[in-house]
Amino acid sequence: MKSKMSQTDVLKMKPKLPLVPLGTLIGRELRNESLEKPTIKYGQAALAKKGEDYFMIKLDCQRVPGNPSTSFSVFAIFDGHNGISAAIFVKENLLNNVVSAIPQDVAREEWLHALPRALVAGFVKTDIEFQQKGMCYSIYMSSFLWFSLGFFVPTSGTTVTFVVIDGWTVTVASVGDSRCILDTQGGVVSLLTVDHRLEENVEERERVTASGGEVGRLNVFGGNEVGPLRCWPGGLCLSRSIGDPDVGEFIVPVPHVKQVKLSNAGGRLIIASDGIWDALSSDTAAQSCRGLPAELAAKLVVKEALRSRGLKDDTTCLVVDIIPYDRPVLPSTPRKKQNLFSSLIFGKRYHNSKNKTTNKLSAVGSVEELFEEGSAMLAERLGKDFPLSSNSELFRCAVCQVDQPPSDGLSVNSGPFFSPASKPWEGPFLCTKCRNKKDAMEGKRPSIPQ
Ligand SMILES: [Zn+2]
Repeated sequence: MKSKMSQTDVLKMKPKLPLVPLGTLIGRELRNESLEKPTIKYGQAALAKKGEDYFMIKLDCQRVPGNPSTSFSVFAIFDGHNGISAAIFVKENLLNNVVSAIPQDVAREEWLHALPRALVAGFVKTDIEFQQKGMCYSIYMSSFLWFSLGFFVPTSGTTVTFVVIDGWTVTVASVGDSRCILDTQGGVVSLLTVDHRLEENVEERERVTASGGEVGRLNVFGGNEVGPLRCWPGGLCLSRSIGDPDVGEFIVPVPHVKQVKLSNAGGRLIIASDGIWDALSSDTAAQSCRGLPAELAAKLVVKEALRSRGLKDDTTCLVVDIIPYDRPVLPSTPRKKQNLFSSLIFGKRYHNSKNKTTNKLSAVGSVEELFEEGSAMLAERLGKDFPLSSNSELFRCAVCQVDQPPSDGLSVNSGPFFSPASKPWEGPFLCTKCRNKKDAMEGKRPSIPQ
């Protein structure tokens, strides 16, 4: 079969075919390129308790529409709370909002480089859109009707763990406490997400408090404090989410983003909602299904979680194997001593993180860490090399991608009294709406006098 032809086989054939038409040669190159791409196998399993977990599997996305050689895959989990409308809205809109924040017609490397910033823009844009939808809805609906239409409660929110796989490069953006782990089958399991739980994340507690929120436990009759740390108003246990229009804006939709490149030995991703992670550690989840095909692995992880804790929450698990094209299953290799040596060779190419996360990735020689950033500050996340609108009279908002004349918005890095006419441009442009969102997230006044 042609699809099974190795590069060596193709080279061997060349002397026998000295007069090959150009089109055939190009075709062969394209085929070789596709041979170097990994195969993706996946499995999914879920058990519902409240029915608020949603997931997305898309294998047919294209960087350049109509060009199959630019394909990439998306796997995501949305664990909703206080209703399902946020989870459904994000599932339907987030991918489009992310992709539309990347300039069109850029080469693959540039696209991957722009992806972390586009994920930030897409998450924030989706959150703004959902909150606006909620506001419109609340104008027309009485509170009685909200309850009768329990499936569409405008106060709902959702965690998001959003994984983009392009070749061997894996980019994960997340808010909340759904988790994505990477098992390179060499005995080292690493976390590609950060848990945004107030109980477990000191940095996030400090950020929420500094932005005007209060963090504390629930007070029950008698003054006893119970349950996990929550932020008030709202009482949410998470410090980041999409949606939640009824809690403070300091619960931000700005994702932690991590981008890694696997070696061509491949690896396994386990993406799951907290129903799994409250029951199983990352290592236990990885070990429980190692060596099994993805479809079976997902079922086994859910079963293992159920066995250890019972069904206390929605439990959703996606297992994604990124496999060399010529191997039917992910090879289970013993941990090699050379990993330590390799980790000296494969350094971090670029790394902006100020997040002190405990991560074992540096010990995984077969994985190259390309990017990691978890700051909640938009000015730090959107960068300065922002794309301008093709129309020089207009500036494009770095979050919602709407073109506006500069007088209608402000640079994200400028102070409240910044005047576009008197100072050089200092950062990505934000339209008035997105600028207000940024200030609200940082605990500043929602509207700054201009
Ligand atoms: Zn905007």
